[in-house]
Amino acid sequence: MAQLTTLEKLAILADAAKYDASCASSGTTRRDSRGGKGIGSTQGMGICHAYAPDGRCISLLKVLLTNHCIFDCHYCVNRKSSNVRRARFSPQEVADLTLAFYRRNYIEGLFLSSGIVKSSSHTMEQMIETARILREEHGFRGYIHLKTIPEADPELVRRAGLHADRVSINVELPTEAGLARLAPDKSAPRIEGAMGLMQGALLEGRDARRRFRHAPRFAPGGQSTQMIVGADAASDADIITRASTLYDRFALRRVYYSAFSPIPDASAVLPLRRPPLMREHRLYQSDWLMRFYGYAPDEVRAAADPAGMLPLDIDPKLAFALRFREQFPVDVNRAPRDLLLRVPGLGVRAVQQILSARRQRRLRLEDLARLTVSLTKVRPFIVAADWRPVLLTDRADLRQIVAPPVGEQLELFGP
Ligand code: SF4
Repeated sequence: MAQLTTLEKLAILADAAKYDASCASSGTTRRDSRGGKGIGSTQGMGICHAYAPDGRCISLLKVLLTNHCIFDCHYCVNRKSSNVRRARFSPQEVADLTLAFYRRNYIEGLFLSSGIVKSSSHTMEQMIETARILREEHGFRGYIHLKTIPEADPELVRRAGLHADRVSINVELPTEAGLARLAPDKSAPRIEGAMGLMQGALLEGRDARRRFRHAPRFAPGGQSTQMIVGADAASDADIITRASTLYDRFALRRVYYSAFSPIPDASAVLPLRRPPLMREHRLYQSDWLMRFYGYAPDEVRAAADPAGMLPLDIDPKLAFALRFREQFPVDVNRAPRDLLLRVPGLGVRAVQQILSARRQRRLRLEDLARLTVSLTKVRPFIVAADWRPVLLTDRADLRQIVAPPVGEQLELFGP
């Protein structure tokens, strides 16, 4: 087989990495300047955006070390039975590319994943070697996110954290049954075992840093995971249950949800159609409700229909409020923070502003109009100095009144 150039390898391995959503950037239209016209490209391979722990948006070279793989996960374009073009970088090549992109100011870090060659431990060693070359030989201080392979030697999973800012181990599918069916080489207990191990190492690392000023940093961005949505029969309620268990057991920084997208040369056991992207969005909103709005997993699940699916036309917070109307209206001049956070249309920042403004004066409807994008959505659920919804909260057609018009742009600042 003819030797591939670095650019050809990059085209293959950066394209193969795009299915990993853990640092996804939003989709856009296809444009490029390779014909010599204009400047810039939305199609160029390899660079994606992620958010650092301090909220900064950083650009990363997102690439696989190789797309060869000895596993056969049905949902993956790189599975051994897939008929794709294969390529492989050496650790030195990825380190060189990262440094070259970094020096040109294209990227601020590296997101490295890999198919499995020879064995899980061998592949993990190669990924760690890439990070080691960057950190130890070049003093690279940029961001590194390493996907770790749960089947690898536990010592290697631990070593990954010594070089990476963030590590992640994908649970892949929300249920064990789904994993057994679609990723027969993987095992849910092994994945959770690796997450537990990483969690222990993260705690040890933090403890060591507290006690010894010069103790090495260990994955300061913590660990995250990703679940594919819509490739198996799991409902939204199943996914919420799984995510909340993972947050509780392994103190994950993030669970990413990736709507299954049909891949080229797809396996026959996969659905032919992708789930609506809105489903992924609703799951992210439900995740926010649990992480930032104080909702218990049971409460988020209560927003789903009897089949366990969240409504697509309204956000889960609004669905919850419509179902449990007896908890409303909430008095914005007296209610505690946790109740205010349950009012549809009021985000965390708006609630904070309400709490500080009401120390000075009693809030009226016009004050709230400045804090929300939709007063129509908020009004049925609140009492203000000059407003009481009277019968509005109980109206049979309330859902029609507060639901956003079909096709309205997604909310920017959470539910
Ligand atoms: S292990 Fe599975 S998901 Fe990962 S690259 Fe191989 S086939 Fe794809």
